[in-house]
Amino acid sequence: MILVLNWKMNPKTLKEAFSLLDATKKSILRKKITGIVAPPSVFLADIARKKGTLHVAAQSIHTEESGSHTGDVAAAQVSSVGADHVLIGHAERRALGETNEEVGKKVVAALASHLAPIICVGENARDGQGHYLETIRIQLEAALCDVSKTKAKHLVIAYEPVWAIGAAKPMSTHEMHEMTIYIRKFLFSKFGKTGMSMPILYGGSIDGTSARDMMHHGEVDGLLVGRASSDMSKMHELFDALK
Ligand code: PEP
Repeated sequence: MILVLNWKMNPKTLKEAFSLLDATKKSILRKKITGIVAPPSVFLADIARKKGTLHVAAQSIHTEESGSHTGDVAAAQVSSVGADHVLIGHAERRALGETNEEVGKKVVAALASHLAPIICVGENARDGQGHYLETIRIQLEAALCDVSKTKAKHLVIAYEPVWAIGAAKPMSTHEMHEMTIYIRKFLFSKFGKTGMSMPILYGGSIDGTSARDMMHHGEVDGLLVGRASSDMSKMHELFDALK
């Protein structure tokens, strides 16, 4: 089981980040979980140095290798400080204007620097006619268009319906089960056998009250957790629920 812990723009200080990291490491140790922490980029190097058995992800990268891109970080820089994953296409980046085309370029940039991309896809809203399935297909197609079968084994797909991120509760496990089947079929048609073993995660308002149910009935390989991952007591509840 994979647990991606997206700290977003939290916590406030490096000292607090270390406390959160220590607590997360202790909780992970007691469970059979692959934990991937995604701290803000300013903490990336320090967190990577103390990661223990955890993996570390950047929250985003630029499409280019270097250049005049104030405020951004490149895949090679992320990799050079000890991170091994990167979130790409997170809804909060797409809301700032990140396009499907840029997502595809970032996936290529990440793989070239030996970072495993965690590709986030999700529709803004649902409709009765199933048009949202087309949105997901287009996002996946754009993200994966330049990925070879050999490189595909490094990818993680996180389905995160935008309407369930930062909400009061997650999507239903039944809806997720359907989405898992849809994404799996897509991955199989594109990558064959490799597509069958690529991890599919769910993200959107998961906490200690919903994690177990989503894991068991959503047919997912893991979870991408936002708010509950950087709140110490909610993080403990989350791990307790995953016993
Ligand atoms: C996220 O940041 O991807 C996320 C799922 O956030 P939250 O768990 O807070 O909804």
